[in-house]
Amino acid sequence: MTVLFVADLHLCQQRPDLTRAFVNFLKTTAQGCHSLYLLGDIFEVWIGDDYIDPCLQPVIEQLKILSSTQSALYFQQGNRDFLVGSKLTDLIGAKLLKESEIVQLPSQKALIMHGDQLCTDDLAYQNFRNMVRSQDWQQEFLAKPIQERLQIAEYLRATSKAETGSKTSQITDVCHSAVLDALQHAQVNLLIHGHTHRPATHSFTAAGKQLTRMVLGDWDQSLWYIQCDELGCVLIEQKISEQQLAG
Ligand code: MN
Repeated sequence: MTVLFVADLHLCQQRPDLTRAFVNFLKTTAQGCHSLYLLGDIFEVWIGDDYIDPCLQPVIEQLKILSSTQSALYFQQGNRDFLVGSKLTDLIGAKLLKESEIVQLPSQKALIMHGDQLCTDDLAYQNFRNMVRSQDWQQEFLAKPIQERLQIAEYLRATSKAETGSKTSQITDVCHSAVLDALQHAQVNLLIHGHTHRPATHSFTAAGKQLTRMVLGDWDQSLWYIQCDELGCVLIEQKISEQQLAG
């Protein structure tokens, strides 16, 4: 029984290679898996389920195929695709998860999340997050015409890129105390998340417990995923060039 996790693909028009790599991944690596968890920022931008960029159509179709066979599909929103709603998840046959969930993996329980909520040192970002995650803001945004929403999203994306560039790397990483709090609250020893684009497996001890934090990588020259079975979980990197040769 194999359970897979991916995050931070940031699929968009400008990167058709990543769309191809994901379709390939769904057809090969993910084929026959027990479940696939999409942990946010699968899409670089999402302005509401009533607008799907045509470049994403092959991905939508392949996700439908995966979920209609034997694999369970789960979606957690990231900080770019936080407006993904049940209309999209119904379309692709996925279950929309809360921003933080405890899941039973073949080897153990794990806490899963996109990870932006752990960057508690970044107060400016947390304020922005509270604003765009509020029902009022979302209702107002979703009521705007598609063209206007695309423009606002483009503006927000440019602002966020400029701001992230001027922040120290400590501020944009997860806060260790937030990680400990989350694991303790969930009463599990394993946390899986994405968002920071710092793929790694961190092991540490707290209050006499051996804890692990696995961080997914963003897709760029390589694709990253976490694969879990009865023996445990591993973080895997695959060069996109090699994946396409193998496919
Ligand atoms: Mn993110």
